[in-house]
Amino acid sequence: MPGGTRAFTVARWIALIWVLTWFPLYTWFWGWKNMMHLCDVSVVIACLGLWFRQSLLVSSQALLAPLVGVVWSLDVLWRIVTGHHLIGGTEYMWDTHYALWLRLLSCFHIGLPVALLWALQILGYDRRALPLQTVITGAVLIFSRFLSPELNMNFVFQDPLLHRGWGPAPEHLTIILAGCVAVFFWPTHLMLLRAFPSAPSRHKESVQTGKKGMATDSVRDEEEHEAMLQTALREARVGLAEGGIPIGAALFTREGKLLGKGHNRRVQQGDPSAHGETDAFRRAGRQRTYRDKIMVTTLAPCWYCSGLIRQFGIGTVVVGESVNFQGAIDWLRENGIEVIDLHSGECIDLLAKYVKEHPEVWKEDIGEE
Ligand SMILES: [Zn+2]
Repeated sequence: MPGGTRAFTVARWIALIWVLTWFPLYTWFWGWKNMMHLCDVSVVIACLGLWFRQSLLVSSQALLAPLVGVVWSLDVLWRIVTGHHLIGGTEYMWDTHYALWLRLLSCFHIGLPVALLWALQILGYDRRALPLQTVITGAVLIFSRFLSPELNMNFVFQDPLLHRGWGPAPEHLTIILAGCVAVFFWPTHLMLLRAFPSAPSRHKESVQTGKKGMATDSVRDEEEHEAMLQTALREARVGLAEGGIPIGAALFTREGKLLGKGHNRRVQQGDPSAHGETDAFRRAGRQRTYRDKIMVTTLAPCWYCSGLIRQFGIGTVVVGESVNFQGAIDWLRENGIEVIDLHSGECIDLLAKYVKEHPEVWKEDIGEE
């Protein structure tokens, strides 16, 4: 598995173990009503998202957790430094009725945002997170309103600034929800859109290609693609060891049989036409058809290699990453070729390091002056 994926597997297990430990403990000590806090609901959804590798769930909670984390940390720090709370809401951290270890569990307010932003680098940000998080928050607010007014859970009876109610329940809840969207979700959504690659919508891609039975939304397929990427990644490392640009590729059958593998040899052979994909393609030899073949490459294919993929009608392209170079993957998709971007952290790091150390060779390779 690629490094990014190996680290992700560890993160998934941490998320699972965390939610299975923290949730019962919190419910037991603070009571079930306390779990209706938006930030507690967020932990559960985020951990499920990490466990199931669901970019949409992770993205939706990334709209809430980072800002809440900052506000929570500021309030705690303010109390430590000045003895007073800046905004309030973290008084329980000093409530000695509860064991210190239990209160310290609340440090998830710092850990969760870090974990979510890291995961977005691998899974990509799903723009549907904004409507989803708005619906989740709306539902939690409505439910909270049925709890006691003294709890003022999620400010459903009194707003956090003026501490007043804004008319009957529907009006007040609408104002609180609008405030959440305007202050938290919408600005964060815009930032995440800019900062992270967009999550591939697997379902949409399969529909676009219109090839029944070639849909790639099962976990098994994902694991197979990751295993195939390993072959390309090994080639990339061989290229690097030879003093070349670390980009590797391999051609597989749909059943997973390796037909040919190769890597960029521009530097090694002084051949500007020897890209990872062309190298793997040539080494695979003649094939009767390419429709049922999978080209796996550590980096999104350039125009030259995309032309090759289009020319021979290779059905599926699995790319390790499209962060260092976007290539022509949109064009491939427009032409009905299934493109799966694995957002591998290992592929990103390997090439990014090389580009930083050899900017001139890299520019030459992608045809920039
Ligand atoms: Zn190329």
